[in-house]
Amino acid sequence: MNLLKAKMIKYKTADEIEIMRDAAQVVSRTLGKIAERIGPGVTGKELDTLAEEYILSQDATPGFKGLYGCPSTVLVSVNEQVVHGLPSDIPFKEGDVVSVDCGAVYKGYYGDHAYTFQIGEVKPEVKKLLDVTHECLMLGIAAAKAGNRIGDIGFAIQQHAEKQGYGVVRDLVGHGLGTKLHEDPQVPNYGRRGRGKKIENGLTIAIEPMINLGTERVKILDDEWTIVTEDGLPSAHFEHDIAVVDGKPVILSTFDYVEEALSKK
Ligand code: MG
Ligand code: MG
Repeated sequence: MNLLKAKMIKYKTADEIEIMRDAAQVVSRTLGKIAERIGPGVTGKELDTLAEEYILSQDATPGFKGLYGCPSTVLVSVNEQVVHGLPSDIPFKEGDVVSVDCGAVYKGYYGDHAYTFQIGEVKPEVKKLLDVTHECLMLGIAAAKAGNRIGDIGFAIQQHAEKQGYGVVRDLVGHGLGTKLHEDPQVPNYGRRGRGKKIENGLTIAIEPMINLGTERVKILDDEWTIVTEDGLPSAHFEHDIAVVDGKPVILSTFDYVEEALSKK
């Protein structure tokens, strides 16, 4: 046993949380720029360039690029790709769903959030998957309050997804966030009420349900990055950055920029 590796949550001060809000908002605005551009015929590589240029223009740096050997600023996961898809030259087509996950570092702190976009008209059952996954995110956030435990977050997400017969991905989880992209604790999208670490003021986490239309099982492609559903059915992914302040969850990121851009399309 290596005691030096004992899990330790780094609770943040009010000042740190304000910097983290700024970092999260850099990513929120980046996703807004992506929302303006994304559509049929656009490629993941185009979005990656746009994201990198925008982040650098905000006195921030891409959060994923170079980390764990990640080659890109955004991760772009299309249809049966769950997360960690690498941006490619393949144009998006009508009916695709595209998860764009983006990270940025601002004043030493990470922002990390994701939105799943619809390309033109998608099938009703896929649109419902996206709606329910977004609802799962909001229910998970609501459970991130003082007095609850980490397991309550996953419980809320899992219950809502499984009610629809969806698969809740087990192999990838949300996480603590701060001066590192992945800090303690892990925040699974499944769980049991009242289990896990107590939620306390100053906790900063990324909550990110990954919900599959079919099986919860996933596999990794030969590129050693892209995670896909085992049955090839679509998957959705939404992610926000949260701080616990005065006992309550505060969302540091926002989808307002995305929604504003999409409403103008
Ligand atoms: Mg992310
Ligand atoms: Mg994350």
